[in-house]
Amino acid sequence: MKNHAITLEDRYCAHNYEPLPVVLSSGKGIWLWDQDGKRYMDMMSAYSAVSFGHSHPTLVAALSKQASQLAVVSRAFYSDQLGPFLQLLCEMTGMPKALPMNSGAEAVETAIKAARKWGHKVKGIADQTAEIIVCRGNFAGRTTTIVGFSSEAQYRDGFGPFSDGFATVPFGDAAALEAAITPRTAAFLVEPIQGEAGIIVPPEGYLAKCREICNRHNVLLICDEVQTGLGRTGRLLASDHDGIKPDGLILGKALGGGLLPVSAFLAREDLMAVFTPGDHGSTFGGNPLSAAVGHAALRLLREEKLADNAQRMGERLLTGLRAIQHPAIRQVRGKGLLIGMDLDPGFISARQFCERLMQQGILSKDTHDTVVRFAPPLIITANDIDAALEAIQHTFSSLLTPPAHLTERSYA
Ligand SMILES: *Cc1c(COP(=O)(O)O)cnc(C)c1O
Repeated sequence: MKNHAITLEDRYCAHNYEPLPVVLSSGKGIWLWDQDGKRYMDMMSAYSAVSFGHSHPTLVAALSKQASQLAVVSRAFYSDQLGPFLQLLCEMTGMPKALPMNSGAEAVETAIKAARKWGHKVKGIADQTAEIIVCRGNFAGRTTTIVGFSSEAQYRDGFGPFSDGFATVPFGDAAALEAAITPRTAAFLVEPIQGEAGIIVPPEGYLAKCREICNRHNVLLICDEVQTGLGRTGRLLASDHDGIKPDGLILGKALGGGLLPVSAFLAREDLMAVFTPGDHGSTFGGNPLSAAVGHAALRLLREEKLADNAQRMGERLLTGLRAIQHPAIRQVRGKGLLIGMDLDPGFISARQFCERLMQQGILSKDTHDTVVRFAPPLIITANDIDAALEAIQHTFSSLLTPPAHLTERSYA
């Protein structure tokens, strides 16, 4: 008989996801428990939103203290929480100004609006003609404008008409970026590592080259670090690996400490200055509750040196995964604790592999059919990395004998 929670969700919830068949009811640190009390290691971290682990006591304390004090006022008024949060955010990232939003997609939309208005009002591009260059394989959220510049057919299918003003270049190819720049180009929007595309790491020095090209053509470099930012790749920002500073920076996911949706668009002064009162906003953006939690999350990231831990643990995990010998493994790639393992679909789909990993007490998620993502909370320890590696190794060892309960997805 089907689990009641699954039946209800299937019955009432839109079928815009295809969850693994596990019903989670609690979490602590890197661990999750299902309804029957079975424990799983979280190697997904809610697409990198849970970088601090589940229910981090410091963050839960900040959340509950602020929730009982003052949660939401809207930015029609000042609050005593927003300024200190954004001060720390700007100081840590080296960006002078921040605009708080909620979801990553909203922060990306904010970046697009800023870039276009800067293009028209500051760079002098004729009104309504500014263009933004994006990369093939990009993922920046699910709004109509954003899916409009996606190269993924399914993300677009049926959802048009789409917004004009985007040009697409191959990811990782700086020469292609330069060739695509025209007098109408306002910005280049790029993920330092493409997450949803399958953890695609560009060639060494790519971002530094893009920085130099953007400087030469007076084009804004906007980094979408919603997934790669805040320690995930072993540095505070993935763009730090290239030693460059973008003109616009988009953060989200982990910024909410795994408790709330908190995102932000950060920018250099003259870019953020295009926004004047009434230009842009969000009812919940920058609310005192989000600000208090975001502030606590940033402090934790800094005090616990989680980027350094991500660097060390990421190396350990990457080395361990690369040591696994199995003909189904095509490639293991990533930086810090953002790692993808590309599997040969002739052997097993990434989805099937995730179902098997689940049997071994590891929760992860496939991305792009062939890639299994390994992105645990940044607080993970060496012992837990080793335990995960053992379970992953075991999953590969048992690959040719499908467990009986998975036979409905028959294994080739
Ligand atoms: C997840 C993601 C987004 C969108 O964030 P949401 O909070 O889901 O809207 C944008 N950009 C990147 C790189 C992401 O990984």
